[in-house]
Amino acid sequence: MADLGIPHNTIEVIQKYHFNFQKKYGQNFLIDTRVLNKIIAAAEITEDDCVLEIGPGIGTMTQYLAERAGEVVAVEIDRNLIPILEETLSAYENVTIINQDILKMDVKGLAEERGKPLKVVANLPYYITTPIIMGLFENHVPLRNVTVMVQKEVAERMQAGPGRKDYGALSLAVQYYAKPEIVANVPPNCFIPRPNVGSAVVRMERYETPPVQVEDERKMFAVIRAAFNQRRKTLANSLANAQELGISRERTVQALERMGLPATVRGEALSLEQFAELSNLV
Ligand code: SAM
Repeated sequence: MADLGIPHNTIEVIQKYHFNFQKKYGQNFLIDTRVLNKIIAAAEITEDDCVLEIGPGIGTMTQYLAERAGEVVAVEIDRNLIPILEETLSAYENVTIINQDILKMDVKGLAEERGKPLKVVANLPYYITTPIIMGLFENHVPLRNVTVMVQKEVAERMQAGPGRKDYGALSLAVQYYAKPEIVANVPPNCFIPRPNVGSAVVRMERYETPPVQVEDERKMFAVIRAAFNQRRKTLANSLANAQELGISRERTVQALERMGLPATVRGEALSLEQFAELSNLV
């Protein structure tokens, strides 16, 4: 099968099938062999791996993955793409195409059936980047690593630390589960159609044990969400305003004092370690 990373091969397939791009599914197909090779190299695919590809589109990256992995499971929501994938991937016996919404799929079950952690590789649909990534982490899907193309701004948020403007709940959630690293910046002309924003490839190496010790994960994330919901307020006020938490202003102030932090501190100044300590104290 022709290499779909080469633009005219992708255009040929699209024309042959009269395929209409669906904006609602975030369809921007990769047409750059260099970028494809970079993604594959970053994911460190070997023939022992079972790779989950989210949103294969017309199968461009799937071909690259199938050449190197033991098995590729490609989950695509758009049923108009299924006959195309059946043709573009017909040469590969190690690929399974599933027509489903990834958010409704039992990915943990998929990994458990295989008996080994998955590698996830995807050029993600940008409208659901966060729910997909957080779904994988929060459901404790056995994972080796996750290598994904996301909006550049989102990639930067994932990597950000305290004091940076883009530091927030997503940074902390990702960094609790994995070590994120931006491995490539990708301009709009590497896709068809071109997105309006820049993109970046992020590789997340899943931690075997989280880098901080926390008594109640859910509580820590509830505290983090409340802290960043009202960024401009002091942390003590933000937590008191989130009534579902049931943490009084005084309790937060006392905990902050024990941690050597001022009562007026804002959430954006706290590190992951400090959020863990705070949630253990309140
Ligand atoms: N992997 C292809 C490539 O790089 O050329 C396509 C990437 S495109 C940015 C995102 C793909 O995800 C599209 O094929 C889209 O139909 C699919 N998609 C969107 N939402 C999805 C969902 N909820 N579950 C599975 N696939 C989805």
